[in-house]
Amino acid sequence: MDFDDTQIHRYARHIILPEIGGAGQAALLRSRVLVIGAGGLGSALLLYLAAAGIGTLGIVDDDTVDLSNLQRQVIHDTGTIGTAKVASAAARIRALNPDVTVDTHAVRLTADNADDLVGRYDMVADGSDNFDTRYVVNDACILAGKPLISAAILRFEGQLATFGVGDGPCYRCLYPAAPPGDMVPSCAQAGVFGALAGVMGSLQAIEVIKQGLGLGNGLAGRLLLYDALGHGFRTLTVKRDPDCVLCGTSPTLRAGGNHA
Ligand SMILES: [Zn+2]
Repeated sequence: MDFDDTQIHRYARHIILPEIGGAGQAALLRSRVLVIGAGGLGSALLLYLAAAGIGTLGIVDDDTVDLSNLQRQVIHDTGTIGTAKVASAAARIRALNPDVTVDTHAVRLTADNADDLVGRYDMVADGSDNFDTRYVVNDACILAGKPLISAAILRFEGQLATFGVGDGPCYRCLYPAAPPGDMVPSCAQAGVFGALAGVMGSLQAIEVIKQGLGLGNGLAGRLLLYDALGHGFRTLTVKRDPDCVLCGTSPTLRAGGNHA
């Protein structure tokens, strides 16, 4: 790919990094990433992926911007309250970097549309806020062979992992079943520290770019935990579960089948 002068200027700080260079930047511009959720995690994630020149960003979200989102969902602003989050995010991304093609999907990701949506992209980054969506995203990614970079936040704690890469596990290997509905509160019920969304969304963007370019040590087979109160990072080794219904030795879930 030939860069024009504007692109050489825009991406100069990446191109000068030997680990990225012109070839890496060109690869980013050719890449297609699907982001699930234009919320707290999605805000930092989308902004950094757009700034990095990910060529095509898909955004899935069926929600509208609410005043209570703005404490952490910094891709939106007061003027976009009441509008679709995908439209608000797309406008901000286009203003930030016109090199990026934004596909907006103002739908809820379900078992009915997940395979089609995931199939259009190279990689998926999940910043959704509920277990149902995480299982649907996981199943579609694993069955399609697409890397899944998954993050979650609650109160002062965040976690990040990469699924479906190499011998690493999938989300179901770690969480075979969703906890009962009243066991894990939502951010609306329990609260979430605003800047934590920025930290974890930024780490998620780092992991997406690393996976895309094969940089450094990724998080396949590892779970990164961050505790904002203690300022502690921990990394746990996580393994594929041979009994996993999706990626184990005798899987029972199949494409187009019974997604949980
Ligand atoms: Zn699995």
